[in-house]
Amino acid sequence: MSETVIFGGKNLPDVYRDIESEVRRYCRAYPVEFGRAKGSYLYDRLGRPYLDFLSGCGSLNYGHNCEPIRESLMEYILSDGVAMSMDMYSVAKTGFLTALRDAILVPRQLDFHVQFTWPTGANAVEAAIKLARKFTGRANVIAFTNGFHGCSLGALGLTGNSSHRASSKPLLTQVTHLPYCDYFGPTVDTAAQIEKLLLDSSSGIDAPAAFVFETVQGEGGANVCSPIWAQRMQRLAHEIGALTIVDDIQAGCGRTGNFFSFEDLGIVPDIVIMAKSISGFGLPMSIAFIRPQYDIWNPGEHNGTFRGNNHAFITAAAALKRYWSNDRFATEVKEKAMLASGVVENIAEQYGLSAKGKGLLLGLEFSNTQDCAAVKEACFQDGLIIETSGPKDEVLKILPPLTISRSEFDDGLQIVRSALNKVHSSSRRLATVARAAT
Ligand SMILES: *Cc1c(COP(=O)(O)O)cnc(C)c1O
Repeated sequence: MSETVIFGGKNLPDVYRDIESEVRRYCRAYPVEFGRAKGSYLYDRLGRPYLDFLSGCGSLNYGHNCEPIRESLMEYILSDGVAMSMDMYSVAKTGFLTALRDAILVPRQLDFHVQFTWPTGANAVEAAIKLARKFTGRANVIAFTNGFHGCSLGALGLTGNSSHRASSKPLLTQVTHLPYCDYFGPTVDTAAQIEKLLLDSSSGIDAPAAFVFETVQGEGGANVCSPIWAQRMQRLAHEIGALTIVDDIQAGCGRTGNFFSFEDLGIVPDIVIMAKSISGFGLPMSIAFIRPQYDIWNPGEHNGTFRGNNHAFITAAAALKRYWSNDRFATEVKEKAMLASGVVENIAEQYGLSAKGKGLLLGLEFSNTQDCAAVKEACFQDGLIIETSGPKDEVLKILPPLTISRSEFDDGLQIVRSALNKVHSSSRRLATVARAAT
């Protein structure tokens, strides 16, 4: 048993300080030891509840230990269901693929093949890029400002944020980063710039294999692309012989009110990446949806041991059956999102911030990073887990479980308000002190 000692001012087991790598991150923002979790709450070792507005960065869309999902997993494990089968056929995989076809693909008239990649989002992104390169015979990939696609060497090449990129250079070469929708503000039409650049054989940008983008940039600061922008990217990509890859790892699985975030954008991407919440239970699982004409893989060409997490297949199938066999849940999420964005806009107005985001991926943008960090810290002290995002971590990201109740959501935002009050009054005090000193 490990000793409990004080380090970093907190009562934490010394084993973390002694042997866990310096790379650890979220634990530094939330320095408590979690034990139980249920619904919208995590509980620390002493039983103190924390409302979860981070939801495993969007990998717990149905909350913690969602009961119908948990029951199917327990039943499966207790019956000695196969746990790991690489990419062999299994009863659990049959159940998942069937549920996916029946609850998602057929009702939406979507014709996709499903590739099981390694169980992280980053690897599915890499699989998609490899496939687009193979199909087109081209190397260059178009990615976008503030995009986040993961931290493996290939996916990192597409990611914008320099604090991630700085770790290892050179990254995947032949990536061109272009301005995302509204990157220069609402008056600059970045789609027109991109069209001009890519249709000009003298722009110096090599013809790309693919355009890779998120419809809502979760890590990038809750930036949203418009339907017209997405449509123009898809039209342009096809005009120049490139594929569209939508990274739906964070914005998908219902986060914007539809199963796929592109459903209300008027596009059908050539490849769609899902990870995070696809298993429905926080278990690792990742897939690439591929339009059949692009599925030109040779057997085993993108191989990997852990592509058959049967426990994740079981929970993913249970989640699809429970939440996606009719449109009740989607409607509920859309209604919640509408209420939520109203409240967030109110808060923004009251405190001089900007409201951002879509669905239940919302953000409050601060004019300075310190205030945003102070609010996050004050929220945690009051029992709310909430993260920051954006290029300078200046956006407080509101990412509750989609299953959150109205009163839990109100409680969370009340904590945010009270944190804002504290931070505002202390920065007003500081401003007064500074004025008095001059
Ligand atoms: C989290 C995330 C990834 C990376 O997924 P991992 O499972 O962490 O590799 C990629 N793209 C987006 C949009 C994400 O939010």
